[in-house]
Amino acid sequence: MAFINENFLKLSENYLFAEIAKRVEAYRAANPDKARHLIRCGIGDVTEPLPQAAVAALHKAADEMAARETFRGYGPESGYDFLRHAIAENDYRARGLSIDDDEIFVSDGSKCDCANFLDIVGSGNRIAIPNPVYPVYVDTNVMAGRGEVFFLEGTRENGFVPMPPDCPADLIYLCFPNNPTGAVASRPQLEAWVAYARRHNAVILFDGAYEAFIRSPGIPHSIYEIPGAESCAIEMHSFSKNGGFTGVRCGFTVVPKTVMGKTSDGKVYPFHALWKRRQSTKFNGVSYPVQRAAEALYSSEGQAQVTVLTSFYMENARLFAQALTSLGWPFSGGVDAPYLWVRVPDGRSSWDMFSHLLEDAQIVVTPGVGFGSQGEGFFRISSFNARASVEEACRRLVSLR
Ligand code: PLP
Repeated sequence: MAFINENFLKLSENYLFAEIAKRVEAYRAANPDKARHLIRCGIGDVTEPLPQAAVAALHKAADEMAARETFRGYGPESGYDFLRHAIAENDYRARGLSIDDDEIFVSDGSKCDCANFLDIVGSGNRIAIPNPVYPVYVDTNVMAGRGEVFFLEGTRENGFVPMPPDCPADLIYLCFPNNPTGAVASRPQLEAWVAYARRHNAVILFDGAYEAFIRSPGIPHSIYEIPGAESCAIEMHSFSKNGGFTGVRCGFTVVPKTVMGKTSDGKVYPFHALWKRRQSTKFNGVSYPVQRAAEALYSSEGQAQVTVLTSFYMENARLFAQALTSLGWPFSGGVDAPYLWVRVPDGRSSWDMFSHLLEDAQIVVTPGVGFGSQGEGFFRISSFNARASVEEACRRLVSLR
C-alpha cells in the first residue's frame, strides 16, 4: 500500500470556505424559503463582468487560435514576453522600480504560486505568518512540512499590522492590503520589515493581491518601493480582484535575481533560478487568450475600466461602513481594501455571529476565527457583491439594531 503525506492529517478538518459552504447548505436544507433570500458576503469572489478591454482581447485571441497562421500551442512556461513586459513596465518601471521583464513569472493565480513556492524552500526554516491571515499560507506550510511556523499577532492595538518580532525568521509572509483585516502597511512599517529581513537574511513573501484597492496617498503599492527589498522580497500579484479574473485565472510572481537562499553547507543560490526551474518542470504556462486578456488590462482603456471596477467594490465597502457605523459596531478596513473587519458585538464568538447573521438576516459573512486564533471575536464582510445585494444587506444589518 502506498504511504500518504501524513502532513495532511495535521490540517484542520476543513478549509474555511468549505466549512462555511457546509453550514450554509445545512441552513438552506432546513429553511428553504428563507434561504432563497441569502446574501453572500463571505467568500471574496467577484461578481461584476470582466472589463470590456479584457473581453475584446479574449475574443481576438480566440480568433487567432482558429487560424493556422496565428494558432499557438504550448507557450513559454514563465509567460509570453508581451505580458511579462507589460507587467514589469506598468506595475514597476513606470513607478521608478527596476524590475526586469524576466523577473516576472506569469501563472494561473496567486493561490498556486504561494503554495508552489514552498517547492523551492528547504526544510528547517523558521516561518513567520501573521495571525489572522489568508488561511492558504498556513495550510500549505503544514502540507509541505517545511519548517517551524510561528505567528505574528495582528491585534486592534497594532492596527492589524504586526511588526518584526525579537526572534529571527527565515521566511516571512506579509499581505497588504490585508485579507481579512483590510489593513494596509505604511512606508515606515514596511521599511522596518525590510530592515529586519536584511538583518536576518530572511525572505519576505509579499502578497499584493489587493494592491489595486489602495486609495490612501502615501501607502506603498509594492514592497519594492522600499529600498533594499529587491534583495529580500518576492512579490505575488493576482488579476483576480483588479480585473475580475477569479474565473479566468491569471497572476504573477516577481522573483528578483538578487534574492538569495542558501544550502545546508552554506552555498548561496538565487531563488530566481530555482523558481524558473520549478516552473519549467511542473507548469506549462497560462493559456494564450488569458495572457492577452491580462495584457489588455494594462492598455489605457483597460486601466480606466479596472479603476471603475475596483471603485465599484470600494463604494460597496463605503455602504457597509456606513451601516456598521450606524449600528455602532466597531470595524476597520474598507478604505484601501474591499474587506471590512468587524468586532463581534456582545462578546459572542465569531462562529456564533456567523450563525446569528445567517439565521436572522440571511447574510453570509466569514467568521474571523477561520483566519486564525486572533480572528476570534471578529467577522469579515466582503464588498465583492452586486450593488442591490449590498444595499439590501445594509438594510438588514441596520434592522438588527
Ligand atoms: N492572496 C490573497 C491574500 C487572497 O485573498 C487571494 C484570494 O482570495 C489570493 C491570493 C488568490 O488569488 P488567485 O485568485 O490569484 O489565486
